[in-house]
Amino acid sequence: MNPTSTAFTLALHGGAGTLARAHMTPEKSAAYHAGLRRALEAGRVLLAGGGSALDAVTAAVMALEDDPLFNAGRGAVFTRAGTHEMDAALMDGQHHAAGAIAGICGPRNPILAARAVLEQSAHVFLVGDGALAFCRAQGLAMEDPCYFFTQPRWDALQATLAGTQDNDPARKHGTVGAVARDQHGHLAAATSTGGMTAKAPGRVGDSPVIGAGTWADDASCAVSATGHGEVFIRFAAAHDIAARLLYAGQSLDTAAHGVVAELARVGGSGGVIAVDKNGAFALPFNCEGMYRGVVTADGALRTAIFDEPLSNYANG
Ligand code: ASP
Repeated sequence: MNPTSTAFTLALHGGAGTLARAHMTPEKSAAYHAGLRRALEAGRVLLAGGGSALDAVTAAVMALEDDPLFNAGRGAVFTRAGTHEMDAALMDGQHHAAGAIAGICGPRNPILAARAVLEQSAHVFLVGDGALAFCRAQGLAMEDPCYFFTQPRWDALQATLAGTQDNDPARKHGTVGAVARDQHGHLAAATSTGGMTAKAPGRVGDSPVIGAGTWADDASCAVSATGHGEVFIRFAAAHDIAARLLYAGQSLDTAAHGVVAELARVGGSGGVIAVDKNGAFALPFNCEGMYRGVVTADGALRTAIFDEPLSNYANG
């Protein structure tokens, strides 16, 4: 790929915890594709107008957080205690700057809390009550827990606690994320999640851990991960992809597929979305599906759920 000065790339995911194929209906499939396309378009308009990768990934993730179908913001999964604890992170590849929050329920858009940490604090990572106090002081829109409630996530928690849940990964986890290369050659990554259904209160996954679930560096690539967070943390998955580009001279495709295959070998189901400094992208996953989409300067919004190729059609 040889991008011109007007080239840009935006890729996003709505989680590797897709509904099992057996449970997917044409109506549900259309709803997921529509949600992905709305998020792609939210980022595309910014990138097409010369906006920054950081703004584009923020806008795309906000759109997914606002959509109750996805496990982030409204529609986040429940902890074992029946509460919401959300994690989010954002990284700016131009300045090697990052912001993250973990274990909080309050900001309507957790990714805006991560962005406020990046831009308005002297820190990278805020958690718990201190993070909430910071969000309030920043004037972020806050919501009561009932805003984040959705019946399917509640039912999934009850089934998990009762030991009657099926093996459908969609009942367990999810996550949303976006990566972009803007017209100026800058990269950014954003990830936001409710974590895993019935997680222990206080558990933090990979999404807000810089280098595990989120990474961006203009010299290499931007990555957002989804899947079994503990394994992604243990293998510094997102940074490992960047390291393979920088130190082993691998292509983005080889590096991203290599890391996702390695995670599978140790029980780390999931996937990543990644874009490199030239605008090439890779969307590998090692499980049944990953809600995902890509848009480049031609403006076509392409999405997919299972192992089918990306398609322009909303009913794919
Ligand atoms: N990676 C997320 C976590 O472990 C969950 C997911 O992506 O499914 O919190």
